[in-house]
Amino acid sequence: MPNMQMTKTPVTEQDPKVRARNFKEVCLGYTEEEAKFEAQRCLNCKHRPCVSGCPVGVRIPDFIAKVAAGEFMEAYNIIKSTNSLPAISGRVCPQENQCEGKCVRGIKGEPVAIGRLERFCADYAMNHADEVEKVEKPQSNGHKVAVVGAGPSGLTCAGDLAKQGYDVTIFEAFHTAGGVLMYGIPEFRLPKAIVQKEIDNLKDLGVNVMTNMVIGKVLSIDELMNDGFEAVFVGSGAGLPRFMGIDGEALVGVYSANEYLTRINLMKAYLEDYETPIKKSKSVAVVGGGNVAMDAARSAMRLGAEHVYIVYRRSMDELPARKEEVHHAMEEGIEFMLLNNPTKIIGDENGNVCGIECIKMELGEPDESGRRRPVEIAGSEFVIDVDTVIMSIGTSPNPLIRSTTPGVEANKRGCLIVNEETNQTTKEGVYAGGDAVTGAATVILAMGAGKKAAASIDEYIKGKN
Ligand SMILES: Cc1cc2nc3c(=O)[nH]c(=O)nc-3n(C[C@H](O)[C@H](O)[C@H](O)COP(=O)(O)OP(=O)(O)OC[C@H]3O[C@@H](n4cnc5c(N)ncnc54)[C@H](O)[C@@H]3O)c2cc1C
Ligand code: SF4
Repeated sequence: MPNMQMTKTPVTEQDPKVRARNFKEVCLGYTEEEAKFEAQRCLNCKHRPCVSGCPVGVRIPDFIAKVAAGEFMEAYNIIKSTNSLPAISGRVCPQENQCEGKCVRGIKGEPVAIGRLERFCADYAMNHADEVEKVEKPQSNGHKVAVVGAGPSGLTCAGDLAKQGYDVTIFEAFHTAGGVLMYGIPEFRLPKAIVQKEIDNLKDLGVNVMTNMVIGKVLSIDELMNDGFEAVFVGSGAGLPRFMGIDGEALVGVYSANEYLTRINLMKAYLEDYETPIKKSKSVAVVGGGNVAMDAARSAMRLGAEHVYIVYRRSMDELPARKEEVHHAMEEGIEFMLLNNPTKIIGDENGNVCGIECIKMELGEPDESGRRRPVEIAGSEFVIDVDTVIMSIGTSPNPLIRSTTPGVEANKRGCLIVNEETNQTTKEGVYAGGDAVTGAATVILAMGAGKKAAASIDEYIKGKN
């Protein structure tokens, strides 16, 4: 019998007051009974609209049918056949714009909780590791491939090639692999032990991970190719922060969201036994309205701030962050100062931030993005007393790779140009994908690009030999 409840089966979450002061995971996931009950909401539609909304084509109704039958490991194996990082995508994918956005149960009521079910299956498999079919390290085919960057695009590309016998080395600039999954998305949304497990699985497949290797500085891509790597995949992300160019951005207490989150996540500034310096702020303004801004604001709250403001120049309707993240942030006490734009950051006599001046905005006609353009209200400037400002207004790809690799071209936004069919850059043998190509996007799109590039690299090397 299908479960005809109009709303998703609720999931247990940490109490907002408690979790706002700790870094433990917010969502605790479904129990077996809850997962089975939710899975019974799926109608197993013939035309499978949910699958068309998934960038990696997970066979959604098939895995959900297995969950409904209590065959959780079988469900996991179905997901894993097209999605190499389900514990991660089940937690961070914007499902409301993808699979769940297409689910027919969402027409009258809430869609099936596909993301929560995916996460349930991945966690079940992790807790029953002895039952998971081990992927044996394949026999080497003698061909070497280099991957630059250990984010989701690089990890996926490396995994797919290693499974086919390639000798893959990942070169990662940071001291830890994982990309944004490790340095950006906070522990309370994506526990780092889960990401580490996926990296360990890759190492078991024979992938060599070399950290502290900034390609373009330590070695160039041409040097890698001269060293016997027959192809290179560039998955170097879009980690270069933007600033507004207003007065006061060089004051002590102004961070980019990337730096702030890297100190907290990768360098563990929130743990007392780590020496990473981070400001213990009382009052924080986070400028921007995306997921990164929500992560920075919620992290500042967890570090003990009394007031954390989101300063965003449009209204709630245009706020780009996921609804779930905004809801969680509000529950945790983040204050939303909408239709406000910073005009300058104010410092005290020692050069420390002591305030941010903003101007009130109203919405005018839609701009080229289709969103209503924010327009300043003359003379409406006011000051918010803060000791920390976190800029979260976007990022772009770092120019290092394109400036040190002759033949690799980029567009006006600094994103590497690739052939959409193959993901090859403008240089033979060099492929790219993820945020380095699209600009800041999503984990699942980066994984999809890594997968596509791996298939093209395999074809290229086989064709050449
Ligand atoms: C705070 C934050 C929260 C986010 N939340 C979500 C979310 O909830 N859901 C979602 O789907 N997406 C989210 N995103 C976006 C998502 O994380 C990215 O789209 C995705 O990680 C891109 O993957 P990637 O492999 O292209 O690059 P990245 O994850 O950026 O990895 C690139 C890696 O390359 C390394 N690198 C860079 N240059 C070099 C070099 N020259 N040599 C060697 N290594 C190099 C970097 O150190 C990094 O490890 C978030 C992003 C941020 C910053
Ligand atoms: S669209 Fe929704 S109800 Fe239909 S098969 Fe997909 S998940 Fe199930």
